[in-house]
Amino acid sequence: MMNVISTIGSHCSLQILKGAKDEGFKTLLVCKKEREDLYKRFKFIDEFILVDDFIQILDQNVLDKFQKNDTILVPHGTLISNMNSQQIENMKIPFFGNKWILRWESDRKLKEKLMKESKLETPNSVNGPNDINSMVIVKLHGAAGGKGYFLAWDKKSFMEGADKLKNQGLIKDENDLYIQEYVFGVPVYLQYFYSPLKNNVEFMGIDRRYESDVDGLGRIPSRHQLKIDVEPSYTVVGNIPIVLRESLLNEVYKMGERFVETSKRFVEPGMVGPFCIEGVYDKEGRFISFEFSARIVAGTNLYIDGSPYTALTYDEPMSTGRRLAREIKNANNSNELSKIVT
Ligand code: AMP
Repeated sequence: MMNVISTIGSHCSLQILKGAKDEGFKTLLVCKKEREDLYKRFKFIDEFILVDDFIQILDQNVLDKFQKNDTILVPHGTLISNMNSQQIENMKIPFFGNKWILRWESDRKLKEKLMKESKLETPNSVNGPNDINSMVIVKLHGAAGGKGYFLAWDKKSFMEGADKLKNQGLIKDENDLYIQEYVFGVPVYLQYFYSPLKNNVEFMGIDRRYESDVDGLGRIPSRHQLKIDVEPSYTVVGNIPIVLRESLLNEVYKMGERFVETSKRFVEPGMVGPFCIEGVYDKEGRFISFEFSARIVAGTNLYIDGSPYTALTYDEPMSTGRRLAREIKNANNSNELSKIVT
């Protein structure tokens, strides 16, 4: 029986804990001292564990507290960018969802495999700088929120970008980079929830990211763009809501279902709870996916009061955070926690 829902104070913690409170749980936030003032403003947070650094969640006294009070930890992007896969897999506290699939999210090669096996159309990855012969996007490994990405079109432009990252201390050498064919179209982030209890994929909402400064570049006339040496960066600042053409929805559900089925084959127990498939719609309406997130994404923060899609399936405001808490509540009641906790 889980009584308390907890997460770390960043990313979508407000949404998760609000949803937990709405479903009748006690809430606990692991919070950096400098953010205590912010989070104390929200009355749905019952208890705090204050830390200097999020990695202190691994300290024995914190873990003891989790175990003593039947507390479940909900992972999100900040958790996985502060810990490596091994640290997460070795955590000895109840963890919402499948902690092993997070390794598949952070390792680009594993990620590509899961997406290809799910029959998602993906951009080709490029082996190395010598093989670049069209526009590519060059990425760092892990959930860095688009930080450090750059565009290249040949070996020379790749090396220039890589050198900049080396000078900033963001990479050791070019092997730390992942090169992917650039897809022309519009970026869209599809938010899902898979319930192992109901064996059902729900579509929760859609967003696009508002990225600095690639989304600011269009505000400058081209003659000025040509005069300044600016490399567009993809640092996420916030999220913008989208609704899709209804004719695209059928394939959206199918993609989510294929992803869930494939994840069961490769990483038991498969995808559990919220996930996101991220990609670009091209001008023919084809969806080419460049990423997935195997946990709740920050774009769900748009829909704390429900999205246009959850409004069709629930007669009450349903955020992804609340849906997650409801899954824990249902598992508590039917004695099926083993299906959603690892
Ligand atoms: P990501 O961190 O992978 O979600 O990517 C951050 C941003 O980079 C996305 O929101 C897109 O704007 C852009 N992006 C990533 N991969 C591609 C791609 N293969 N083609 C075009 N744009 C991309």
